[in-house]
Amino acid sequence: MTQANKNEILSLFKKADALLQGHFKLTSGKHSEWYFEKIRLIENPAALDRIVHLLVDRIRNEKKPFDYVISPAYGAIAIGFLAALKLGKRFAFTQRVDEKMAFRPGWTGLEPGAAAIVVEDILTTGGSIQEVVACLKEKSIAVAGIYVLVDRTGGAVLIEGRPVGSLLALKVEAFDPEACPLCRAGVPLVKPGASDKK
Ligand SMILES: [Zn+2]
Repeated sequence: MTQANKNEILSLFKKADALLQGHFKLTSGKHSEWYFEKIRLIENPAALDRIVHLLVDRIRNEKKPFDYVISPAYGAIAIGFLAALKLGKRFAFTQRVDEKMAFRPGWTGLEPGAAAIVVEDILTTGGSIQEVVACLKEKSIAVAGIYVLVDRTGGAVLIEGRPVGSLLALKVEAFDPEACPLCRAGVPLVKPGASDKK
């Protein structure tokens, strides 16, 4: 990906207020230069449409055959659904049933021999993507690819040995307050999302 593309993608996220750059106090107590407010993407369908369009371009370029786009509920449903619409594929989502990620009964065509791609919003540890992959394996559905809008690990995480395709790979460093370069530079500290904390 060229730098111009990366800047274009960064500015799309920033314009939607989904990616904030500054000096943030995370719930862990650590400090970071970047903060993702992924709910802004869902709030702003027009911005999400432009962002998913770019992800879909990337998926199309890889020319992999698949039948389904699968996303984990709930944040990624709008993203996977839009991607499936643009790709002309079917869509399904997994959700937690008694804590365990699963397909609720009722979906059709999720049968052995089908192939699916997994689409998620933000990759942090890859935990929920791993669970979706396990759901697909259980149904003997091939995983043709894994895609996220933002990879916060900067490409460091593999899911079952596969790389994750991302629109934006951004290594988000979290600093202990004593070692924070932003504190040292005197940048005012902000605690984001304080009002909508669970
Ligand atoms: Zn700091």
